[in-house]
Amino acid sequence: MCNGAGLHFVVLLSLIGIATAESSINHDYFKYNPMTEVSNWMAQIAKTHPDVVTIVEYGKTYEKRTISLLKIGVKSEAKKKAIWMDCGIHAREWIAPAFCQYFVKEILQAYKTDPKMQQMMTNMDFYVTPVLNIDGYIHSWTTDRLWRKNMSPGPYNCSCNGTDLNRNFDANWGTIGVSTDCCSNIYCGTQPVSEPEAQAVTYFVGSRIEDFLCFLTIHSYGQLLLLPYGHPNFTASNYDELMEVGNGAAEAIRKVHGMSYTVGTSPDVLYPNSGSSRDWARLKGIPFAYTFELRDNGTFGFKLPENQIQPTCEEAYSGALHIITYAHDKTFNSAVATVAAALWTVLSAAAVTGNNLM
Ligand SMILES: [Zn+2]
Repeated sequence: MCNGAGLHFVVLLSLIGIATAESSINHDYFKYNPMTEVSNWMAQIAKTHPDVVTIVEYGKTYEKRTISLLKIGVKSEAKKKAIWMDCGIHAREWIAPAFCQYFVKEILQAYKTDPKMQQMMTNMDFYVTPVLNIDGYIHSWTTDRLWRKNMSPGPYNCSCNGTDLNRNFDANWGTIGVSTDCCSNIYCGTQPVSEPEAQAVTYFVGSRIEDFLCFLTIHSYGQLLLLPYGHPNFTASNYDELMEVGNGAAEAIRKVHGMSYTVGTSPDVLYPNSGSSRDWARLKGIPFAYTFELRDNGTFGFKLPENQIQPTCEEAYSGALHIITYAHDKTFNSAVATVAAALWTVLSAAAVTGNNLM
């Protein structure tokens, strides 16, 4: 009887184990998930990877929902570099949150076996916000599939809701590619960073700006990799490098499923604009700031069919990883290179001095 009871206990424990493992495996990365499922998934990821994942709450939406991100990296007391990724700043671009979920799954999987990912997670933390514009995302599920903006009310004399969060950041705000009509889809708000969701990113990233090497903001559609700046009168000081790394990312994307992504500034390949989070990040000093415009080219547009989620995520992952790896290696490998070069200079100087003494 004792053995029987013991056996039952073991079986019960195994079932609990399976149930726990299953519930994290059961998340479907290749369908569009409503906000409640995204939130449950975030909690599950933090619970199943406590060694490397924490949930950080960093703001509230207009409708008082909590904005949170997954901080992913080897925990350390030392100051680490960081990678920013946000998805779902525009509500209707459902492929973007799907990509953030996939990205998290992939880096956590790679961390188990890939020495390069282990190195990157030791040196850097990944800050991933799966859905930034939560109110808008929910509205796009419940009421208006093509809703883009957040849900804050317009000014006193306007009956329309919503500000375009990607026109609301403090980067040449209100100057080009925006509307001051609060019914417009590109309404930029009453002043820079008037919106709580834009404030959350501005304060969180701004408070540790020197840590961030990359700022990747994920949108759809158009198959583009956009770099700063949206205003045609300004050029990023590292424009050439941004283009080179962007072209490398596009090539990495092409290798996965043969899809073509165009690289350039917004005015060069899409349209001029101001107040984007990408431009703000670059203006504040984050070197590698990119907007990803995922699939497609307009056939389905924002309503990308679910059977394209997997290939879209696979190729975009490859592109994102190219940029992140470049930024990492430039920072950490060139630190070693700099020390070696400095040592060589000292040795050469000694040699020269030695020669002179002869
Ligand atoms: Zn967008």
